[in-house]
Amino acid sequence: MAGEKQVPGLYVHIPFCKTKCGYCDFYSMADTGLIDDYLGALFREIDSYRHEFTEFDTIYLGGGTPSLLSLGQIENLLGRIRKAFNILPSSEITIEANPADLGQDDLSALHDMGVNRINIGVQSFDDSELAFLGRRHNSLQAMNTLGSARLAGFDNIGLDLIYSLPGQRIEKWKASLAKALAFGPEHISCYELELKAGTPIGLRYGQRKSGPGTEERRRTFFMKTSEILEDAGYIHYEISNFALPMNKASRHNQKYWDHTPYLGLGPSAHSFRERRRWWNHESLHDYLRDLKEGRLPVGSSEELGIEELAMEALFLGLRMRKGIDLERYELTYGRNLMKHEGKLFQEWVREGLVRLEGSVLRPTRAGMAVADGLALL
Ligand code: SF4
Repeated sequence: MAGEKQVPGLYVHIPFCKTKCGYCDFYSMADTGLIDDYLGALFREIDSYRHEFTEFDTIYLGGGTPSLLSLGQIENLLGRIRKAFNILPSSEITIEANPADLGQDDLSALHDMGVNRINIGVQSFDDSELAFLGRRHNSLQAMNTLGSARLAGFDNIGLDLIYSLPGQRIEKWKASLAKALAFGPEHISCYELELKAGTPIGLRYGQRKSGPGTEERRRTFFMKTSEILEDAGYIHYEISNFALPMNKASRHNQKYWDHTPYLGLGPSAHSFRERRRWWNHESLHDYLRDLKEGRLPVGSSEELGIEELAMEALFLGLRMRKGIDLERYELTYGRNLMKHEGKLFQEWVREGLVRLEGSVLRPTRAGMAVADGLALL
């Protein structure tokens, strides 16, 4: 916003998982026999946006489990995307991968195809924790995949970890972090285990008052995680994300956080452009039906007013280390935050939750820990 050119990002959702993890409520299905039908529909969806979106500088293959696709399927998909759109030469091209899926040759082939960033769903380096989470890989597979990705030539490797499992001691979490650091990944995402309704883990622990997810426990894990990773040189650039160095922060995900346009393809994928947000049907069946009948598989959409965009920018800005440039914010959204919220900001400064650096309001580590609450002005 504010006048500078923002190149959109492209997200492609691969809605298949061999097995369902116990904490996950993302849309995915186990019937991989539908992958070919799905790719046929996805290619039609890609082509139908070729005039509306012309160029991208990030591609993100997420899911679900993109690493369930064969190398040939991934190559065809990237080829189809490159044929329909101008993919800028410096683009960040990411694939999410399950550690059980890819060997050294697969990783080398992906790198040769131009995939230059891999995000590996490690979640934990402890086998009993992985079993609890219902992951289909073990810690040895995770370590092998990390090592193989580096040997394959990836110089931008990310891994995901989950903390605050029921009964998990902070020492065990620190051990997982130490194992992650030993690989020197450029990017680490650390997510608190969320007890989502309707998932096996959510059903089992969701009602317990002393279980994972209590405020005090969340804060302890959050603060310790940030301290350990920042001591190791990582930049805590968003509440769940760390990069070393900063230019290895996920360029694609940052588009979601600063109102850069993005196109999401596949079931349940969301898109955003100008003030419009729209999202596809969640069900693969509905998605396939619409594309077969020549319609875009859009489930619903909304037009955001300037007030809503301003609120989102505030909410998202407080979750990021770069914070909110108050002058730029006023130029973009027409709201002088200092004038309206200056007293509150001073209170947050006194409480050590934010810093005011020139015209930038920046959350501290303690502020990031409570960022969602701060945004509820
Ligand atoms: S692999 Fe990812 S998307 Fe699939 S069930 Fe597990 S957490 Fe959910």
